[in-house]
Amino acid sequence: MRLLIIGAGPGGYETAVEAVKRGMEVTLITEGPLGGTCLNEGCIPTKTFCHYAELIEQNRKAGLEVNIDFRNIAERKDAVIGQLRGGIESLLKGVDVVYGKASFKDAHTVTAGGQDYEADRIIIATGSQSAILPIPGADTAMTSREILALREVPSSICVIGGGVIGLEFASLFRSFGSEVTVLEYCRELLPRFDTDIAKRLKQALGKRGIRIETQAQVTAIDGGTVRYIKKDTECEVQSEAVLMAVGRRANIEGLNLEAAGIEYDRRGIKVDAGFRTSVADIYAVGDVTGGIMLAHVATYQGLRALNDIEGKQDSIRFDVVPAAVFTMPEVAVVGMTEDECKERGIAIRCLKSFYRANGKAVSMDETDGYCKVIASAEDGRILGCHIMGTHSSDMIHEVAVMMNMNASLSDVRNIIHAHPTLSEVLQAAIHE
Ligand code: NAD
Repeated sequence: MRLLIIGAGPGGYETAVEAVKRGMEVTLITEGPLGGTCLNEGCIPTKTFCHYAELIEQNRKAGLEVNIDFRNIAERKDAVIGQLRGGIESLLKGVDVVYGKASFKDAHTVTAGGQDYEADRIIIATGSQSAILPIPGADTAMTSREILALREVPSSICVIGGGVIGLEFASLFRSFGSEVTVLEYCRELLPRFDTDIAKRLKQALGKRGIRIETQAQVTAIDGGTVRYIKKDTECEVQSEAVLMAVGRRANIEGLNLEAAGIEYDRRGIKVDAGFRTSVADIYAVGDVTGGIMLAHVATYQGLRALNDIEGKQDSIRFDVVPAAVFTMPEVAVVGMTEDECKERGIAIRCLKSFYRANGKAVSMDETDGYCKVIASAEDGRILGCHIMGTHSSDMIHEVAVMMNMNASLSDVRNIIHAHPTLSEVLQAAIHE
């Protein structure tokens, strides 16, 4: 089986590595560096920044002197990317990696760098790029790519968009010393998240000195001035730097999808549950499909596509996707929100607990946190969990496991958790 994969992000390279293990002959074509957005300008560089931001905040809390050497932090971030890219290179030893921009010639042929590549099956995993608002001055704002390349901390930043990317950078640069304003169009931050969590995060970030304006529609950027309309009033924010983080759009330009007859719309390439496109033998996974834009989702979609190619069934649950927002405090979620359950007419019970009642959290001086477990009112089955608080991104996986096992509250109530640990926050909610 000759498999051709386009794109070397977590959707593309992880699938390539697995396909080689399964005995396929794999060619991977990529325009950008190995690792895609996740490694080069997304998850990994931001988490390196997060590590230093956390150290800074902990030192501040402990009353220790804080000297921020941002240039050094930025260099360490680049070193982390380099190290991990080397790791991917060695993982891809059995793969024919081609650097170039891929374009379809027909349903089994792709051209890159003036050469044609034929395959029995093709997986498109080209990812996404920052969306830009159609407003005057939009091209002067930074996106997540440019802000990650900064070598100095701006004295002030205006962040357009209070979604995942906007809030992660707002939180980071506040720790690094910037004055930060977030302008969010919707009524709450993180519009698709649990409303309780979004409200609490707004409060927590506010306490850290981040100014947040919701229901703010940005209309123009003029140098360091960002203009917006809030409740019919024209307002403006002055800042040294502007970050635009208003969503991402699928990378489909230049792929010449028409030559193969692949259907797509404004959101991205259309796929079915096996990640098959409208054309037999061609699959699409990850951000390019316009679905849930998360690295780990792309990887598992690639795995599903491989299983589909081999005619294998799998038990991957795409309704149980843990996700985290690496603000300070962190937010982590899995499953349905309260609002989603209400919309679907599902009768639920919400069980809650607070970090301030947890011994480890108090010892750590990390008491700003909250956990909400959602269970079916009928049979106690766990349907979702939403946590704001330190290390919630590590804790959420316990609930993901429970949900994958279709566990109910009574199944998990008797599971012993070590004391004193933050995991007892979850246990306290379940015992409520
Ligand atoms: P997003 O959809 O999470 O947030 C964009 C925000 O911008 C929304 O809240 C939206 O209401 C707001 N907005 C839109 N137009 C606006 C306007 N004119 N004025 C003010 N606000 C406006 O998108 P994102 O933050 O750019 O992230 C893109 C994708 O990347 C998401 O799918 C996200 O899940 C993913 N991502 C995930 C992680 C993570 O898992 N930690 C990190 C980064 C990115």
